[in-house]
This record gives sequence, structure tokens and C-alpha cells, in this order.
Amino acid sequence: MPIEKLLIANRGEIALRILRACHEMGIKTVAVHSTADADAMHVRLANEAVCIGPPAARDSYLNIANIISAAEISGADAIHPGYGFLSENAQFAEIVEAHGLIFVGPKPEHIRTMGDKVEAKRTAGALGLPLVPGSAGAITDVDEAKKLAAEIGYPVLIKAASGGGGRGMKVVPDEESFESLMSQAKSEAKAAFGDDTVYMEKYLGNPRHIEFQVFGDGNGQAIHLGERDCSLQRRHQKVLEEAPSPVISADERARMGGVVAKAMADMGYRGAGTIEFLWENGEFYFIEMNTRLQVEHPVTEMITGVDLVREQIRIAEGKPLSVTQDELRFTGHAIECRINAEDPVTFAPSPGTVTSYHVPGGMHVRVDSGLYQGYKVPPYYDSMIGKLIVYGRTREGAIMRLKRALDEYVIEGMKTTIPLHQKLLEDADFQNGDYTIKWLEKWLEKQQEK
Ligand code: ADP
Repeated sequence: MPIEKLLIANRGEIALRILRACHEMGIKTVAVHSTADADAMHVRLANEAVCIGPPAARDSYLNIANIISAAEISGADAIHPGYGFLSENAQFAEIVEAHGLIFVGPKPEHIRTMGDKVEAKRTAGALGLPLVPGSAGAITDVDEAKKLAAEIGYPVLIKAASGGGGRGMKVVPDEESFESLMSQAKSEAKAAFGDDTVYMEKYLGNPRHIEFQVFGDGNGQAIHLGERDCSLQRRHQKVLEEAPSPVISADERARMGGVVAKAMADMGYRGAGTIEFLWENGEFYFIEMNTRLQVEHPVTEMITGVDLVREQIRIAEGKPLSVTQDELRFTGHAIECRINAEDPVTFAPSPGTVTSYHVPGGMHVRVDSGLYQGYKVPPYYDSMIGKLIVYGRTREGAIMRLKRALDEYVIEGMKTTIPLHQKLLEDADFQNGDYTIKWLEKWLEKQQEK
């Protein structure tokens, strides 16, 4: 069924990203916003806007009743959830569909399965994805878990089944501390997610984070769009992402991509998804699947030429995938910097009013941001205010272009992480692609000692 009017259940740069794809497809847009976002760029550019509540996300962007009402009042026929907020809420997807609206996203049952990490791991294993060695499911018997830990070898990692954002995770160095750290993980998980189910994995010492972009049509056809390397993280938050990964060969991409695409085809997966792996000593280990669009999706768009939001919308309309695996080509290199309204050294949030604004331009430079001169960044939400993405024929070329673009980017009125990215790009390890998920935090410590 063709979509004529789409409601965007999100805010910030991703709301704008979705709006742009819609307008290019001739689809009308409805923006929903909290009272704090009345002046946001996507609200200004949308065909219609509906205020859905006060600033706190639970009263607005997470308020399902108000969002559904806004869709009914405006006569929207589809809802795109973006990332974060309600994007991985299976119940929301079900409610959207129960109201006769199109949910631009996966089937609700797949969102639910992948949202429970124990269930996700079981499913991934059954679909033939390589797993981190660990408990087959939730830990029910401590003694058995300890026996298994001894077999796998310490250190092990206790993780929360309902986990997210790295919470409820504990590294257990030896058998003596197993029980106390497990109960700590359980109480943390209970407090954060209302569920104290935990499971165990081998703790990988120094892996990279490498994720594959996948797309399914919901009817058994699926493709992969290559990998992204998101190893540069601070407190489990990605800071800079690139595609392709500096360590994955074309053969390895085709092999592993084939495995993930087949898994998605067998599952009957619909829409965009990301399969996250840890990668160490040439081996991939599945950690989780995100059943939504990712923040870092533009790097994939740049090296494939495929508009991922357009693809999501087409699939939601019941159309087939617009490209086949054989038609897809991976060319060049793309890098994304996440730009946060934060102090670049202490990372303290720094919301404020944009007093002066100039975006970089030129060949192969893309800025996804809702900022404009005079815009007041509200203090209630995530501190990411934009993304700078560049493309180059080679990784070296992309790095040079990114440096040039960062130098041009002017955001005054608040502190931003632009200087952090500028420093990072000067580092020899980064330039050599020689980093793991541990690297950035160590590098930041060294910067502070200087
Ligand atoms: P969350 O949903 O809480 O983000 P993930 O399973 O995605 O949890 O893991 C978050 C991060 O924790 C990973 O990106 C990685 O840095 C680290 N991590 C997860 N599992 C392991 C493991 N088995 N060994 C080492 N590090 C891990």
C-alpha cells in the first residue's frame, strides 16, 4: 500500500533525515514534538506538526496514546519511529498496526525476540550466526554457571537479558568473585530494567565492534550492505564510525555478509536491521541485533549509494528490495563523526543557543543536523546535535577531507566535541586503523595527562 502521509515519531537530526527521504518520495510529513521542540528544524519543514506533550520524553516522545492520536488527527497512514524512543518497542509496533497504520520497521515479533538478549542469542545461534561462548540461556543455577565459567576460562562477563547501554554488565575475573559480582549485576539489572535475568559470556579481551547492515523484504528475500566499524567508543557510546572496516577484506565481507543475509532471509525479516559482532583474531562473535535504523547508517549510504530510509519506506509499502546483492557495489570509504553539545575534555553536557553557525560543504561532505543560527538546544534530550559524514575514494582521502570539513564547521554558543574529533584524526593509531573497543578510553586518559 503506498504511503501518502507519514508521521515521524522522533526528534532532532533523525526526524529531519526521515523527513528529507519522505519529501523526495512525494510523501507528506507530520512532525510530532514536545513543547521544548516547537522551534525545531524538522517541525518547521514538516507539512504538519502536532504537539504531543511536555519536554520529558516519557510524556511526549514515549507517549504512545498521544502519538497515535496525532496520527489519527492528521490522517497519517504510516509511522516511522527513527532510533531510540519507541523504535524497538514491540508493543508500540503492534498498537500502530492495530490502528490500521503502517509501521515503518520490522515485524513486532522480531523486535520482541531481538529485544531479549537471551532469546536473541538463541535465535542467532539457531540461524547459524557465530556466538560468544557462554551460557546457553539465562543463569538459573550458580554452581552450574561456575562450572561452565571454569570451562570457558576466566574472565567472564555477566550480562543482563534486558540490557542496553552497557548497564547490568560485570566482568568477573575469577571464581572467588563470581557470586558477589553476579548478584551485583542482577540488582543493577533489576533497578534499570525491572528484570534481573542475567546470562554469561566469555569476556573478550580486546575486540573490535563490527556490525553488518541488513535489509529484508519480510517475504524471505534479504541482502547485506556491508559492515561498519564502530570500535571507537566511550562508555559504550559510539563516537566515530567508518565503513568499510579497516580490517575486513572483500572476501571476508562477502562471506560474513552472506551468513547474515541468509539468516535474515530464513527469519523472514522485514526492513532495516543491524547485526552487531565483536571481532577478535579474525573471528566474529554475535552480541546483539538492533531492529531499527542506526545513527551511523549514513556511512553505509555513502559507500553503497543506497538511501536506507527510502528503502525502509519502500519495504513498508510492500515493495521488493530495490537492489539485489549482486547489483550492490562497495566503493570508497566513509567516516562519520558524532558531534555532541558537550565539553570535549570533561564531556559535561553544554546545551545553549547557537549564536553563530556555518556548515562545511564541498564534494562528498554531508551534515545531518537540525541546528541553525538562533536555535536553542534543549537540555532534556541526548546531547548529539549533529553528524558530519564524509566520503573519499580511499580511507586516507576520507581522513583528509574530514579534517578539512571539521576545520570549516563553526558552531558557537556552546561547547562541542569537534575539537575531540580533530585531535583524534591526528593520532597515528587512528590513521593506521589500529584500534579496538578499548582504545579510545585509553587515548582519552592519555590526553588528560598531557
Ligand atoms: P548493550 O545492549 O548494553 O549495549 P552489548 O551486548 O551491545 O550491550 O554490549 C555493549 C558493549 O559491551 C560492546 O560493544 C562491547 O564493548 C562490550 N561487550 C559486550 N559483550 C562483550 C564480551 N563478551 N566481551 C567483551 N566485551 C563485551
